[in-house]
Amino acid sequence: MSPGSVVVTGANRGIGLGLVQQLVKDKNIRHIIATARDVEKATELNAIKDPRLHVLPLAVTCDKSIDTFVSKVSEIVGSDGLNLLVNNAGIAVKYGSKSEPNRAKITEQLDVNTTSVVLISQKFLPLLKTASSKVSGDELSVSRAAVVTISSGLGSITENTTGSGMFEGLAYRMSKAAVNMFAKTFSIDMKDEHILAVNFCPGWVQTDMGGKQAALTVEQSTSELVSAFNKLDNSHNGGYFHRNLTPFQF
Ligand code: NDP
Repeated sequence: MSPGSVVVTGANRGIGLGLVQQLVKDKNIRHIIATARDVEKATELNAIKDPRLHVLPLAVTCDKSIDTFVSKVSEIVGSDGLNLLVNNAGIAVKYGSKSEPNRAKITEQLDVNTTSVVLISQKFLPLLKTASSKVSGDELSVSRAAVVTISSGLGSITENTTGSGMFEGLAYRMSKAAVNMFAKTFSIDMKDEHILAVNFCPGWVQTDMGGKQAALTVEQSTSELVSAFNKLDNSHNGGYFHRNLTPFQF
C-alpha cells in the first residue's frame, strides 16, 4: 500500500535522504516532498532527478517556516490532501545527568525532536484529514493518512539499562520517550479522523548522528523502513517499532 503523497523532513542528509532515495523507487507515489533547512546546499537531494520530487525549505523550530511549508505542500497535493508525513528531522544534543546544568541545551533538544514534531503534525492535520476522507470505512494505512515519526530505541524507558551512557543521551532519551507518547496519544485522538500514527527506531545507522562505526548503512535501514511503512495497518496504530515492524517496548 503506497502513499500517493509523502513529506519527509530533514531529507538533505542521513536517514531522511535515504528515505527519499528509497521512496523514488516506488512508481505509485505521485508526490515526494523533501525538506532541507538550506535547499541550495542540499546537493545530494537536488541530484535526485525525478519530476515527482519537490525540495522545499523547512526549519522545524520556526513556526513561520512551518506555515509557509504547509501552504506549499497544500498547493502541490491539491484536493487529494497529504497521505504520509514522515517526521525525521532530529538532533542529538550531548547532555547527561552529570553535565553542567543547562536549560538551553535541554530546551533545544526537546524543541527539535518533540515540540516541532507535535506542531508540524498538527499543522498538517487539514491535509491529512482531506486525504483520509477520500476513503470510506475504518481501515488505516499510509495510502490513506498517516504520521510516522523516526524515534529511537534510546526513547524506550523499559530498555534503558545504560543511563545517559557514552553518548550523554539524557536529553535525547527524554525527547524520544516524549515523542513516543505523542504518537500513542495522537493515534487515539485521531481515531475518528482515521489517521494512523506510529513511531520507528531506524536502528544504529551510519550518519553524521550515528557515526561511521554504526551497525547499519543508510540504505539498509531506510529500505526496511519504507517496506515497513507500506505494511502498516490498524493493528500497528499508536505503536513503536523496530524497522522490521517488531514492536519496541515503550
Ligand atoms: P543526521 O544528523 O544525519 O541528519 C539530521 C537531519 O535533521 C538533517 O537533515 C538536519 O538538517 C535535520 N535537522 C536538524 N535540525 C533541524 C531543524 N531545526 N530544522 C530542520 N531540519 C533539521 O541524523 P540522522 O539521519 O541519523 O537522524 C535522522 C532521525 O533518525 C533523527 O530523528 C534521529 O534522532 C533518528 N535516529 C538516528 C539514529 C542513527 O543511528 N543515526 C538512531 C536512532 C534514531 P541540517 O543538515 O540542516 O542540519
